Amino acid sequence: MNIAVIGGGIAGLTAAWLLSRQHTVTLFERQAQPGFVASSLAVDGVRVDMPLRVFYPGYYPTLTRLYRELGVATEPVSYATTFTGSDGQVFFRWRNLRLGGLSIPYVLPVDVASPRAWRIVQGALRFKRLAGAALARGELAGCSVGEFAAAHGLPAEYVDGLLLPALATIATCTTEDARNYPADVVAAYLAGGLTRQSVRRAVHGADDAAHRLSAGIGRVVCSAGVQGVRQDGEHVAVLRATGEVELFDHVVLATQANQAAALWQNPPPAQAELLAAFKYRRLEVLMHRDTRFMPVRRRDWSPVNARVCAQHDRPESTIWVNAVQPALRHAMPVFQTVHPHRQPRDDLLIGRAAFERPLVDASSQRALATLQQSQSAAAADRTPARRVWLCGSYAEAGVPLLESAVRSAYGVAAALRAAAAGPGLRAASGT
Ligand SMILES: Cc1cc2nc3c(=O)[nH]c(=O)nc-3n(C[C@H](O)[C@H](O)[C@H](O)COP(=O)(O)OP(=O)(O)OC[C@H]3O[C@@H](n4cnc5c(N)ncnc54)[C@H](O)[C@@H]3O)c2cc1C
Repeated sequence: MNIAVIGGGIAGLTAAWLLSRQHTVTLFERQAQPGFVASSLAVDGVRVDMPLRVFYPGYYPTLTRLYRELGVATEPVSYATTFTGSDGQVFFRWRNLRLGGLSIPYVLPVDVASPRAWRIVQGALRFKRLAGAALARGELAGCSVGEFAAAHGLPAEYVDGLLLPALATIATCTTEDARNYPADVVAAYLAGGLTRQSVRRAVHGADDAAHRLSAGIGRVVCSAGVQGVRQDGEHVAVLRATGEVELFDHVVLATQANQAAALWQNPPPAQAELLAAFKYRRLEVLMHRDTRFMPVRRRDWSPVNARVCAQHDRPESTIWVNAVQPALRHAMPVFQTVHPHRQPRDDLLIGRAAFERPLVDASSQRALATLQQSQSAAAADRTPARRVWLCGSYAEAGVPLLESAVRSAYGVAAALRAAAAGPGLRAASGT
């Protein structure tokens, strides 16, 4: 089949790479490079991913398998984190001990000397235990993080000082969004082994993965913004910004849901409705050298530094790039700040980029169930033939991360394989 994949994030790259094994595939990306690496920057001659992305095998089995198959080397990084208030003074921090394959968060007595820090630790231990047990008993469905915390009387110091800021940092959303996050999604994220396994990064950054995936894709066309996608009978027309129209047997929309909604010109009403149910938060990421974004005392600096203050709707988080990217270990300090509360000095700014992140809430979870059900039903029964498919980090269960993006790509590739086999072939092969 002749297939177009629109969008060169990790989801689109993976879908196109998988589909290229059997089909003629064209990947269209609007940016000058695949979106997965388009914002990366060179700092002191070293490419730094923007945003920096980490994973851990327990929660990322599909990404881990993909990286292994591609030969992408990965290495452990510390996720020790310092939490400060608006004054830059530390109110809590955890450190990270790595022993062989184990990675253990711990606090020193000095880190829990204040009553506030002590309550945070108590709350964290209780949340992990209670949420893990409730998840195992299937009791978290329909419950938000805020509701769970209130029902179990978790200390406010923990909820407002660690739980919500940490979740808002991982999911890059507001603190209020974090409060409304489905509790089962958060419990499953923790249950993947985050408190035992090392967080990892690709040694040679996202570039390495993007390069290896691109090499296996039939045709990659960058700087190729697609303006519209329209299914007409047995074909799907892809309208390029240049005015060209190309026809394909199938199209995979591997953009974000809100972008897919704008691109797909004649979706069935139910598909338009489900795409509209995914909401997004815009955010900015800065690369800079301004040490004012770090805790006031140099010895309090961690690889991750979250600044939590009541005047802002979400924490500012600053990654100390030198501490997580060995090639920059001895270079001048470099930082990456997500959702800056303030601006760095002009002469210390290296670059900035804007992103959108899908929110997970009760309505996105309902839309996700419909999306998955409709795509698998269409793959199993080609009447009426579905020819436009949805793929991306928002299109799989869990926190929208690299894992859900890659898992979604595997799902769409399997659906297209089934669709290509047709009912007769599927029956003959027993699939
Ligand atoms: C600040 C930040 C930090 C993060 N940290 C982590 C982390 O540590 N670990 C982790 O697992 N995840 C992390 N994530 C999330 C992760 O980066 C995303 O979940 C994942 O990259 C999404 O991939 P995707 O392919 O679904 O979507 P995208 O990466 O959004 O890909 C969509 C692509 O479609 C392209 N496109 C859109 N419209 C068109 C069009 N009309 N024509 C052609 N192309 C188009 C876009 O340019 C883009 O390249 C982070 C995200 C952010 C913003």
